[in-house]
Amino acid sequence: MSIISSDISKAVALLSTEELVAIPTETVYGLAGNIFSEKAIKSIFQTKKRPFFNPLIVHIPSVDLLQNIVSYIPEKAQRLADAFWPGPLTLVLPKQSTIPDIITAGKDTVAVRIPNHPTTLELLNQLDFPLAAPSANPFGSISPTTAEHVNDYFKDDIKMILDGGPCQRGIESTIIGFEGDEPIIYRLGSTSIEAIETIVGQIDIKNKKEIAPDAPGMLDRHYAPSTLTVLTDDISETIQKYSEKRIGVLAFSKSSDHDAVAFQIVLSESTDLQEAASKLYDALHQLDKQDLDIIIAERFPDIELGKSINDRLQRATVRA
Ligand code: AMP
Ligand code: MG
Repeated sequence: MSIISSDISKAVALLSTEELVAIPTETVYGLAGNIFSEKAIKSIFQTKKRPFFNPLIVHIPSVDLLQNIVSYIPEKAQRLADAFWPGPLTLVLPKQSTIPDIITAGKDTVAVRIPNHPTTLELLNQLDFPLAAPSANPFGSISPTTAEHVNDYFKDDIKMILDGGPCQRGIESTIIGFEGDEPIIYRLGSTSIEAIETIVGQIDIKNKKEIAPDAPGMLDRHYAPSTLTVLTDDISETIQKYSEKRIGVLAFSKSSDHDAVAFQIVLSESTDLQEAASKLYDALHQLDKQDLDIIIAERFPDIELGKSINDRLQRATVRA
């Protein structure tokens, strides 16, 4: 029997008895459990094979609940929450003493956001506890953007996938931490730097080496297909280079016309970066299933969501 269902009351019942449920969000599907249940949280780490040093994001349904999770809210954090929540922006702030150490990997800060998905907002409103929900994939592999992707990974491991359709944004949340009262980007994501800068002014990105292993999304190899995948600025030159192989192509807006290309996906013919982001992981899942020798992925323009797409492609690939 399928574990995919859109029955919110069933998800409430499972989560209230310390079970895990995969939940839809606007970014990717999450593997959710009660933040106050040690059993549920341990089971998240075990199911994902996620190292315990990797802290989890806490999901809440309304901004009034933020003060139950964090002990201090800098003025710029409040402005970002007001501007982007519900939405794909995670804030890392000093934690309340009630937040279990297993959620924060023993740190005195906690990551929190309000997801923008009607099903999951309704679910969170019916629960009397917040949910920890890392992406619903084994550690290091491609994040899921449909209920079917989660089913492929975890159908034997969890009792329910709450179906909310394909994720509209398709890339993980942008994570912002604070040094003193000043925001710093810890992870690029579905909220663009340009949009963030309209709210808080110029913002720096912390070098990934400085924050690893705090943010495993920042590991050099993450979000990766099992097929060898290369990143290039020049698709046709790279196709020539590998023309003896069975090639898959992941392109931004234009298709390639070469006999060696066995399968290709164009992410947005109209060069819409949001459309491309929303299709990115599904494209990688599809390409990975085609029995290819190599996937050639095209680098995106280095602006807005193109920066976040390039960040993920860099971690999914090796250089051409
Ligand atoms: P995900 O697996 O997509 O849910 O990613 C969660 C990300 O949030 C991970 O990369 C974590 O390292 C990061 N994160 C969560 N809590 C903290 C924290 N207290 N400080 C820094 N990064 C955090
Ligand atoms: Mg993840």
